Amino acid sequence: MELPQPQAEEAVSSNDRVGKKQRDREEEAGYIMDDLKSGKSVLLLQETPKAKTSHCQSWRCMPRKRTGKPVIKSHYRFMLKDISVPSKRKAEYYHVTCLERLLPDLSALVRDGHLKMDGWISAPVDSNVCLESSAEMVADWFKYGGRTFDLGCYANFRKDHREWDNDCSTRWINHHLGHGEQPDNACNYCQSLPDPEEPKKEDYFPDDPSVISLSQMLASMSGQANIDKCGRRRRRA
Ligand SMILES: [Zn+2]
Ligand SMILES: [Zn+2]
Repeated sequence: MELPQPQAEEAVSSNDRVGKKQRDREEEAGYIMDDLKSGKSVLLLQETPKAKTSHCQSWRCMPRKRTGKPVIKSHYRFMLKDISVPSKRKAEYYHVTCLERLLPDLSALVRDGHLKMDGWISAPVDSNVCLESSAEMVADWFKYGGRTFDLGCYANFRKDHREWDNDCSTRWINHHLGHGEQPDNACNYCQSLPDPEEPKKEDYFPDDPSVISLSQMLASMSGQANIDKCGRRRRRA
């Protein structure tokens, strides 16, 4: 009888490890999907409260592996909220990237009504991004089931529309208060001319929103490479 070669043995055990990881992932995802499909729980995306104390429940939480701590320090998190007993506030929390690894097609969960927004979700205040534009971008991702537009579309439209709005109200105020009884040649109200044309959304947005993963969208609007990167140590050169 031939003994197995050590090399082959190593290859098998590494395959086993990959297989075990995969089985664990499927098992864990299965539990979450059962809770969602049975109506026991609903999944909510939320901004993590300032006091960051929630622990990620993922069996193979990557930030925990890196830092040794399960606390969710990220700006966003998932809440798996138990809605079977409304009086009890039972919930489990996840890093966005941990849950996305378990359930890669989050857009399907949105379309099936299992994944929702919990309140206002925008870019972090210190991110130099228009908060209203980023909030609209996130809201659209949920509205279109995993699709949205570039942040620049929202920001440009908002800026031009705000300018148009200010311009119109300045003209109106000037007409009423500025030139009294005397008609003014430069005033569109005195000259019965229409207001400058209102910026139209369709001039700023393409016809269709584009597919983007939730973690990618949140990272791009936060100006980060990875929304759950907190605590990662830089390798020494
Ligand atoms: Zn995690
Ligand atoms: Zn006037």
